[in-house]
Amino acid sequence: MMFPISSEEDLHLSENLYYRTLDSIKEIFDSDHIKLQKIKILAQRIKEGIENISPFIQHSTEIICPRCTNICCINKHGYYSYEDLIYVNALGLEPPGYDFTRDDSAPCQFLSGKGCIMDRSMRPSGCNWYFCEDLLDYMERRPEYGSFDNELKDIAELWLEMMSEFERVTSIYLHQRSPKH
Ligand code: SF4
Ligand code: SF4
Repeated sequence: MMFPISSEEDLHLSENLYYRTLDSIKEIFDSDHIKLQKIKILAQRIKEGIENISPFIQHSTEIICPRCTNICCINKHGYYSYEDLIYVNALGLEPPGYDFTRDDSAPCQFLSGKGCIMDRSMRPSGCNWYFCEDLLDYMERRPEYGSFDNELKDIAELWLEMMSEFERVTSIYLHQRSPKH
């Protein structure tokens, strides 16, 4: 297994790198480290948080996106990042099978005539954190915006906490695995 795994690389550029990264993350989750439990709980809370704010977002996209002339759902946005792979593994789920041959600028492989086919809580984080100007303008004018914004901030904090816990577990795992002299 190749360690350390990097959070910086753009995984969609290489199928090989994507699967090596996925295998490395799975290896950590297979290690049954006691602290993985906390990461799993955080991932579950993130998933529930995204499900809670989903109706507000859905209502807004249903109004704004049909008028859009520059749809943001292009193929390169549909791939999981390193952090997304941690989240999905923490939930005990498998990422989708990707077609790595598709052009970056082609329509996203998960885009259907009725919008994204992935549950919102399972979409790449880049999709879930992105609100274009028109969409944001519309959302900000709705009375529910304040509570939506607070929930989004809470989810972002949980996400950061999950990542820092994962980094801690990884460094302990690597330390335990390293040859003793
Ligand atoms: S989120 Fe914005 S850019 Fe993306 S499809 Fe909707 S209106 Fe268009
Ligand atoms: S929201 Fe769905 S369809 Fe749009 S880029 Fe993300 S994964 Fe693809």
